[in-house]
Amino acid sequence: MPRKFIVGGNFKLNGSQDSLATLVEGLNKGSLDSNVEIVVSPPFVYLDQVRKSVRKDVAVAGQNCYSKASGAYTGEVAAEMLKDLGIEWVILGHSERREIFKETDDEIGQKVAHALKAGLKVMACVGEKLEEREADKTTEVVFRQLAAVAKHVSDWTNVVIAYEPVWAIGTGKVATPQQAQEVHKAIRGWLKEKVSAQVAEATRIMYGGSVNAGNASTLAKEEDVDGFLVGGASLKPEFVTICNAKAKM
Ligand code: PEP
Repeated sequence: MPRKFIVGGNFKLNGSQDSLATLVEGLNKGSLDSNVEIVVSPPFVYLDQVRKSVRKDVAVAGQNCYSKASGAYTGEVAAEMLKDLGIEWVILGHSERREIFKETDDEIGQKVAHALKAGLKVMACVGEKLEEREADKTTEVVFRQLAAVAKHVSDWTNVVIAYEPVWAIGTGKVATPQQAQEVHKAIRGWLKEKVSAQVAEATRIMYGGSVNAGNASTLAKEEDVDGFLVGGASLKPEFVTICNAKAKM
């Protein structure tokens, strides 16, 4: 079965009730390729607003969730709470969580395990920093991050991998299609070796890092690029163009 192209919009710490209403209106009016799965991820406090107002063929994701269902964990949000709001997806292991909030591979693995158990679909993010790429450690880092996730996954149906080189996130320095394809292919090879050929074939690998309306269709041509995780450009009208980039090929 061909892998369904998937585009996620990670709004990060941006938006207000008004600005997100405008953004949702743009998506609702936009002509979106029905062959593409689209997921938007507003900050927690706006999840309910966006879930209730966005068209039903667009899914909604949390930007994080904790590895416990409830308890004395001030400031945290549970996967079960996201499910309770009708949220289908969660982004886990984003490099900003890893870098700024010091989330470890193991914590991310625990979160993935808990989110899947609670019935969420997971976008599991991996990616190397510039110094790691320059030291020729890209696959070493990405495989280590993947292994920490894979340890907790027995069924890959609800897992999508987002390869997001840290040096390309929010910098305007997009990976070349060749750079993206090379790592995506390596990730698929890793899945084949460590999990199974069937999982490697079926699991979608999104690219994230300065994707915009100008570069999306070229990146989408690469064999192992099955979608995008988009930050900055997901807050702009060009997000619709990115969602339709695969159809434009
Ligand atoms: C991201 O944060 O996941 C991301 C890819 O950001 P940007 O598109 O802004 O580089």
